[in-house]
Amino acid sequence: MIVDCHFHVDETMLTLEKMIEGMDKNDVTKTALIAPMNETMFEADSNFQHNLQRLFRFLILYTPQIGFKIYDGLVKDGYMKLYGNSYKIFTKPSNDIVAAAIDRFPDRFLGWVAVNPMIPESVDEVELYLNKPGFIGVKAHPFMHAYSIKALSPVAAMCESKGIPMIIHLSSELDSYKYLPENYPKLKLIYAHAGIPFWKKLWKYVRNQPNVFLDTSSDYLNPSIVKQAVESLGYRKILYGCDGPYGMKKFNKYDYSTKKNWIDTLQISDNQKEFILGKNFLGLLKIL
Ligand SMILES: [Zn+2]
Repeated sequence: MIVDCHFHVDETMLTLEKMIEGMDKNDVTKTALIAPMNETMFEADSNFQHNLQRLFRFLILYTPQIGFKIYDGLVKDGYMKLYGNSYKIFTKPSNDIVAAAIDRFPDRFLGWVAVNPMIPESVDEVELYLNKPGFIGVKAHPFMHAYSIKALSPVAAMCESKGIPMIIHLSSELDSYKYLPENYPKLKLIYAHAGIPFWKKLWKYVRNQPNVFLDTSSDYLNPSIVKQAVESLGYRKILYGCDGPYGMKKFNKYDYSTKKNWIDTLQISDNQKEFILGKNFLGLLKIL
């Protein structure tokens, strides 16, 4: 069974029906959804952008001090700054959008409860959503919501005690990838986008952390980084995901095959690919 562990709902970009169609075409049985993080964000298909993305990956990999500065510059005053455009970041995640999507396609969608620990009301509603059908864990975004990883302590303690996973998009806060594993060693943790912005340093650390995993989602990555992450950590620690609809250029034209190809073309056995494409993730979930 193929399960995408990281995808957002934003019907101003991609409708639920189109998502199901794309999943069907690519044999994706289930997708774990997250509330939209920011307002509608289409990207232009330009060489300029592709070159910038390549440079960004290179800097993060080889000169992190410079890479982190660029990474940090992507988020400013509640806006995501991308290629000269600004997109409003949603401070309080709308988990009701995910609940509604699960209601409509209960066999196809799972849900992450997105939380912003800087908003007490957002923390209060986590348990409420976790009790709704299909919700499997908690998503947090210290990068876009601009807080220290330590702010996640109460939520992490709760997830650890419930035995449910968290998925986290890290900020560039120094050594922040060590904080939750060190303080909540039984917490099941997925670092989004292969642990951006730390990548190699984080991979080295995660190798010895039994409950920490990475996802392969988003255009922050490319096939080479996914390959390096798998080589560094082994196939049991890597989870397939897309991070759509972000990265798409036109309404309802999301290409599901790209991210799946990143896994399909790895030089590992089909059995090992099955773990990345779904078994590892399903192993973390209680409800399935
Ligand atoms: Zn995402």
